[in-house]
Amino acid sequence: MPDTSFRAMVVEETAEGNFSRQIQTRKVSDLPKGEVLIKVDYSSLNYKDALSASGNKGVTRRYPHTPGIDAAGTVAASEHAGFSEGDPVLVTGYDLGMNTDGGFGQYIRVPADWVVPRPAGLSAQESMALGTAGFTAALGVGHLIHMGVTPDKGPVLVTGASGGVGSIAVGILAHRGYAVTASSGKPEAAQMLTHLGAAQVIDRLTPPEPDRPLLPQRWAGVIDTVGGETLSIALRTTLLHGTVACCGNVASANLDITVYPFILRGIALIGVDSATTEMDERRDIWDHLADEWKFPGLASLATTIRLDDLDDHIEKILDSRQMGRKVVDLNA
Ligand code: NDP
Repeated sequence: MPDTSFRAMVVEETAEGNFSRQIQTRKVSDLPKGEVLIKVDYSSLNYKDALSASGNKGVTRRYPHTPGIDAAGTVAASEHAGFSEGDPVLVTGYDLGMNTDGGFGQYIRVPADWVVPRPAGLSAQESMALGTAGFTAALGVGHLIHMGVTPDKGPVLVTGASGGVGSIAVGILAHRGYAVTASSGKPEAAQMLTHLGAAQVIDRLTPPEPDRPLLPQRWAGVIDTVGGETLSIALRTTLLHGTVACCGNVASANLDITVYPFILRGIALIGVDSATTEMDERRDIWDHLADEWKFPGLASLATTIRLDDLDDHIEKILDSRQMGRKVVDLNA
């Protein structure tokens, strides 16, 4: 294959602790080793991408670097028998966009065991409207279902509801018949969340006065993307034997809580790590997303942007101003 040139966002460390982002021309021969070369048509913007794009060394150790933890496109060349040129595929998570050049470029090269055949029920664009955010939301929904949280058990709370993971969790759960309470700090998000099927939209959770180790029970299940005090309140307001899926830490990585919700109410706290999900479960979750978990509001949730527009949106997501999902069209 010729050494094709392509466009990509490149983040560089210009001085100790200072980073710049530009769209540059790169060569396929610069990409890391891997069995499958993918021509990327769409990517998406996740909170982790914004961290990588702004020099967060907890996410990306080495710069220059092309972020983008999500990519959907077609196989351009494969050294692995499981994939052939032209196959529609997607990659989310593993090390993509962290220390492996990611989907904010028109080509990626990755190990074959990171590559998921794109299910027939999802277009490349739809798969990236979901992306890691949707995959993570779906893992959270899967945990609730596995733990017996069915719609008849009571309302389900989603925190950080206007964000990527939160809004898709609202969409899937409402579509599956749950009474969803969406917690959001953005009053302007109420319409979007109601459109996605939320039965109720409430403000962000704040501790009551006086605060107590156990609070009145409200939710059969919770998908929490916020962490910190929000996760603590969610655990203390969950119904007897309910389940809380913990996905994120936008507010804080700390959790200040007693053991009482666990030992007096039997609450289960389940962690979600989308990046390392095993391939069998990964394919299973994508099949659900392409089929019975595909919710009607998905198309209107996502806005498609160009690679050249990404910079502004990276700043927005870092400032917690993003609503819904941003799909990046690499060919626009
Ligand atoms: P977004 O920025 O799209 O959404 C986060 C939302 O959280 C915001 O829109 C806002 O929603 C809310 N929020 C932001 N700051 C605060 C705050 N200080 N207190 C309370 N709420 C706040 O991010 P994503 O949806 O992409 O990711 C959400 C979290 O999930 C991140 O921590 C991310 O790293 C994590 N994540 C984890 C994954 C995993 O595998 N475990 C995979 C993907 C993401 P609102 O204004 O509506 O309240």
